Amino acid sequence: MSDNVESYDQCARCGSSMSVEDCEWCPATGWYNDVYDPSCHVCHGSGIGRWCLSSPEWCEANPLPGRENTERHTVEWIDVPVTTPDQPGSEDEG
Ligand SMILES: [Zn+2]
Ligand SMILES: [Zn+2]
Repeated sequence: MSDNVESYDQCARCGSSMSVEDCEWCPATGWYNDVYDPSCHVCHGSGIGRWCLSSPEWCEANPLPGRENTERHTVEWIDVPVTTPDQPGSEDEG
């Protein structure tokens, strides 16, 4: 069986790819400790911030249908089924 699903992150507003970076917004992160803040609006405690790769102008001007009010940098996870191609015929070795 190969009904695996991979999740990809994209900008929920414009559908662009996201840049993944360490969060620098957590009040408690950085030089002193590795405690991430669950209330952080960027990483939600994960320590990872995701950013829309498109320019602000493009992201603002090209929202996906119905996403006109979605904030830039909102992460949306897209599940993509991973289909592993079946081997046409198993080769018999030797
Ligand atoms: Zn965007
Ligand atoms: Zn954070």
